Amino acid sequence: MAQVQVKLEHVTKRFVTKTLGDIVAVDDFNFEVYEGECFSILGPSGCGKTTALRMIAGFEDLTEGEIHLGGRPVSSSKRNLYVPPEERDLGMVFQAFAVWPHKNVFENVAYPLRIKKVQRSEIERRVKEALHHTSLTGLEKTYPSDLSGGQQQRIALARSIVTNPKVMLLDEPLSNLDPHLRETMRFELKELQSKFGFTIIFVTHDQSEAMALSDRMLVADMGKIMQIDTPENLYNRPINRFVHSFLGESTFLNVVIKDGKVYAKGDMEHPLDLEAPPNAEPEMIMATRPNAIELTAEKGYRTHVQTRIFLTDRTEYVVPIGDQTLKVQTPHRITFSQGESCSVRFVEPMWYPVEDADAEKERQRRQLI
Ligand code: ADP
Ligand code: MG
Repeated sequence: MAQVQVKLEHVTKRFVTKTLGDIVAVDDFNFEVYEGECFSILGPSGCGKTTALRMIAGFEDLTEGEIHLGGRPVSSSKRNLYVPPEERDLGMVFQAFAVWPHKNVFENVAYPLRIKKVQRSEIERRVKEALHHTSLTGLEKTYPSDLSGGQQQRIALARSIVTNPKVMLLDEPLSNLDPHLRETMRFELKELQSKFGFTIIFVTHDQSEAMALSDRMLVADMGKIMQIDTPENLYNRPINRFVHSFLGESTFLNVVIKDGKVYAKGDMEHPLDLEAPPNAEPEMIMATRPNAIELTAEKGYRTHVQTRIFLTDRTEYVVPIGDQTLKVQTPHRITFSQGESCSVRFVEPMWYPVEDADAEKERQRRQLI
């Protein structure tokens, strides 16, 4: 078993605002990140990602709880303990390119070593190495304003690895880059990690980025941890409607369950070809993926094709079901024409309680503050 590198215990952060009331930015976070792991914190804007990362870094104190790095407590509300950021052995890259415009590339990267009063020759050696690993060799004397966004973000990356930290904290470091560059940098980040073996905590609102990079991910909503697991398990077994909709495309159907039969809301005459789940409630949400619904000419819920769209890699159909419509994606070889009758079948759907209407309001409030 790998060693625990970062540990959060009941970590909570409450902000008090003048106009919008109190906000619990991070609400009882508990998790562990292992040595050498790439761990992502994923969630919509306002869910508490940056606040969590800033507390780990030591830029923000905790309202409650305790944080351990490498087995030693660095922040604790109870013990009134607070180790400053520069003593936490961390590398950091944030969303905004935090490079100094008046320092050249070499001095930008050398800065953390100068603060630590590292010897001149050692600084030379380590900056050279960091620049080499981030493909910036030859640009030592250049100023950031003469470089592209991608190169500037590489400076930030070089500066974060130059101290050879145990843990790298990355807050949406790629989101200001164009899509092509983002993919390249994603790859380079993985390369750097395998070379240096540091632990990564990566914050993003971009699910595909998190999935491509992470060993495990934490999905947060409204300051709370929803689920922590591997990308694959999160995709295949999302614990609630929110996680389901946040990872990949979702199809939700409002259903009524009566006498062990499942009906699409709005049609109590024709049950769906499905067994009710063990903990059935009278009304539920049935969740599936558009590409996991079968469109057949045979057994299933009878309906017809309302719309058909031929896309490059799949065909997309919209079919009415009860008082709702359903999006279905099939391979091209399955062909139904517009208006044609067909059946839909659901394969191993997930079942969730009906979400309370206040959740969406609270998510929006958190984005306004
Ligand atoms: P994310 O990074 O996931 O977008 P943040 O951690 O930045 O979210 O913010 C979480 C919530 O806390 C948001 O509602 C945000 O407005 C609020 N918040 C963050 N920092 C402060 C602060 N210094 N004062 C008041 N509210 C804050
Ligand atoms: Mg943020």
